[in-house]
Amino acid sequence: MDDRGVSGFNRWLDGLLTARPFLARRVSSTALVLENVLKVPVFRCQRCGECILSRTAFVCSQRCPKRLRNGACGGTRPGGYCEVYPERRCIWHAIYHRSMVLRRVPLLLRIAPPHRWDVERTSAWLNVFRGRIEAPHWRVAPYVDDRDREVAGRAEKERDP
Ligand code: SF4
Repeated sequence: MDDRGVSGFNRWLDGLLTARPFLARRVSSTALVLENVLKVPVFRCQRCGECILSRTAFVCSQRCPKRLRNGACGGTRPGGYCEVYPERRCIWHAIYHRSMVLRRVPLLLRIAPPHRWDVERTSAWLNVFRGRIEAPHWRVAPYVDDRDREVAGRAEKERDP
């Protein structure tokens, strides 16, 4: 992650935990237990350690068998079914529809960075506080260009035909 949005506190905490690996493991495993209690039953969290729930309308994209983080693979079957497991709905189909309902489609247009595999099965909450991964997007940013407006307009039409 670049330095934007990383505060002095984030750097201090990351420095502290990096210098004390034993403490870092203890804090991370405790935070992960707390996180799992909420996120596994509610969001079916797959413990990727780099949470992008706020980008994906609070549907976990990591339930995709290909673990895609930036939209469907292109193999989605008619009716919105998964290419790998044809009996299941494509998770990106659900993400798009939930984003329409919550008016969060513009967030789908922001490319999520490549996944940091080194944070797998660590606490995403702690990783945010350490400034290792991006913070959640609570606010939907205004459209930045005409392409954004066009896509969001199409989504609005599909939502309220
Ligand atoms: S995006 Fe990652 S951390 Fe967030 S709910 Fe899904 S698997 Fe869990």
